[in-house]
Amino acid sequence: MKQPILQCQNVCFSYHNLKGETSALTNISFQITKGEFVSIVGPSGCGKSTLLSLIAGLNMPESGTITLDRSENTKIGYMLQQDHLLEWRTIYQNIMLGPEINQTITPENEKLALTLLNDYGLARFQDKKPGELSGGMKQRVALIRTMMLNPQILLLDEPFSALDYQTRLMVSADIGRIIRKAGITTILVTHDLSEAIALSDRILILSKRPATIKKELPITLTLADDSLLAARNAPEFPNYFSVLWKEISDEYDTENR
Ligand code: ADP
Repeated sequence: MKQPILQCQNVCFSYHNLKGETSALTNISFQITKGEFVSIVGPSGCGKSTLLSLIAGLNMPESGTITLDRSENTKIGYMLQQDHLLEWRTIYQNIMLGPEINQTITPENEKLALTLLNDYGLARFQDKKPGELSGGMKQRVALIRTMMLNPQILLLDEPFSALDYQTRLMVSADIGRIIRKAGITTILVTHDLSEAIALSDRILILSKRPATIKKELPITLTLADDSLLAARNAPEFPNYFSVLWKEISDEYDTENR
């Protein structure tokens, strides 16, 4: 069996504040192998973003362990719902922000920035300001900025949810392709079940808070063509959707619907 790039074992976490304790995660265990695309779904407020923040190292587990494969100096890229681009900088300057802060601007990463801008269809826009771009384009710029750090694991927290429905379909499929082509291990938090099915190799379904892993659902889709909507038109798609729908709706108390 392949060596996992990330391993969570019996991870528990609670928030503490003046109002008391909020238990968010209990006994979360799973592993991810290199190059896998895994989505995390679950009821609203169950602890999905909390789990990502622990994997990113922004919070520490109360108990349990999160282990990264350090043999390759594994770096993590974290992309959030908002693009957080700096309006006064051009697209190119936004992308080069990380190397600039780290004082690691080199001819190689300048070349990488131009290659990524080209790959993502944004080369023409490198001298524009973020306000001149559409929401989908800005989200792609945010992804390039994350990719500039050369992450081995990409954490995506609802990265498409600020986009309108049609843009979301296009941008998520497009970004999914780019990530797969680059072979980057990815964990996506989403509340959009169709998006999770279309993009993932495997889906982790969390229970209501404090979250446990209810089920792991491996995804295999038969794609008829290479169009952006091929995954959503796959014959297996409706069945996966029904399974996810049932698992998640079982977690909502009737009075909370
Ligand atoms: P999800 O991403 O699944 O919607 P979150 O991980 O954001 O859920 O939150 C899980 C639970 O923890 C929620 O009940 C939320 O209100 C609570 N929570 C999140 N952040 C904090 C915090 N900083 N302090 C206290 N409670 C928090």
